[in-house]
This record gives sequence, C-alpha cells and structure tokens, in this order.
Amino acid sequence: MPGTILFDLFHTLLDGADGQRDRVVARMGEIVGVDPAGLVAAYHASWRERLVCWSAEETVLTLARRLGGDPSAEQVARAAALRLELASWLLNSAPSSTLVALDGLRAAGWRLGLVSNATAEAAEAWQTSGLARRFDAAVFSCVVRAAKPDPAIYQAALAALGTTAQRCVFVGDGADGELAGAAAVGLTVVRTAEFIDRSGVWSGPVVDSLADLPGLLDEISAGLGLSQRPV
Ligand SMILES: [Mg+2]
Repeated sequence: MPGTILFDLFHTLLDGADGQRDRVVARMGEIVGVDPAGLVAAYHASWRERLVCWSAEETVLTLARRLGGDPSAEQVARAAALRLELASWLLNSAPSSTLVALDGLRAAGWRLGLVSNATAEAAEAWQTSGLARRFDAAVFSCVVRAAKPDPAIYQAALAALGTTAQRCVFVGDGADGELAGAAAVGLTVVRTAEFIDRSGVWSGPVVDSLADLPGLLDEISAGLGLSQRPV
C-alpha cells in the first residue's frame, strides 16, 4: 500500500559534484580577494554552520573575513551569485533515470517528500528545478534550522505532508548519519548506493539505483526485508 517516501537530495537523486563545488569556491576566493585554497578549506570546515545558519552572501563574507579579507558588497554579491548558479545547474542535472523513477512512484500512488541538508542557495534553486514539481513537500535544513540527523527536520517533513513516520520510507545515501536519524524517528530506511556507496554506515536494505526502489518497496510493504540496523 503506497504511503510516503522521503528522499535525501545530494548523492541520492543526483550527483553531489563535490569537485565542481570546490572549483567554484576557489573562483569565489579570487573574486573576494582571499586565498582560494584557504576559502575552499573554510567552506569544508564550516559545513555544519552553512547548513543551518547563513545565506550565500553571509557565508562568503563571514569566511572571507575569517581569512583576513575585507570584500566589498559588490564582490560578495558576485561571489555568492556563482554559488546560486552552481546550485541551479546541479539541481537541473538529475539523470533522466531519476526523473523516470520518481514519476513511476508517483503514478503508483506514492507521495514524495524531500529532506535535505542544504545551504540557502540550494533551497532557492530548488524552486525552479525540474525536481520540485515532482514533490509534495520539500524541507531544507537551512529553512527549518535543523540538519539531519536532528529529529526536528524529519518531523518537519512529516508535518508538511500530514503523515506519520509509520507510513513513511526514507531513502538516502547515508551521509551525516541521516539513515540512523531517520530510523530513530520511526521511518523505514532504504540506503541508495547509486551515486556513492557508503556501505559502512548502514546494514539494512539497499538499492543500486532508484529504478530498483519499487521492487524493494513491494517487499517492504509485504513485511519482508526489514532488517535495518545501523552498524
Ligand atoms: Mg546525501
């Protein structure tokens, strides 16, 4: 019986493009007049703050100042625009197999939700992406100010969809402890290895492609294959 599926975004519906992110941030460093490699390192070191606190402009300004820079408002705006451009490109790069899988699930009666640890520019870019119209609700950490595995972000998604954890499946690659976090609030958990294989973080059901999800969900709905223990 279809219920609701909550999906992670990066490395679940599309590639995370980590290398491309670093190249964009290095270019931003040149724009705001700080060491590009230093700014890349600062972005990596501040990921948790970026997920729940800052806008794209606040982020580049704060991190540039931490590196001794003093960029103008115009430099900050130009650098932040690169991040939004990257996010827009990323969110429109979901493979056709992902879109086909999502459309198939919707046609089968599943409602779809997004639960994403994402920075402000990703949440903004989501609105105009081809993914957004396929989802009944999308919850971003930067909006609800809580990031996976905090129970609050899953509960925000359940509330937005008007459903309960017992009626939901969570699908993600397993970054940030998201699978254990989902299980802790009572969601059935499926790990995807399509874009990155984090086999060490979860011992429960796994799919190699979202195309395999309907078959696994049939098994889960029938009460099979429900071993899901964090390792
Ligand atoms: Mg992910």
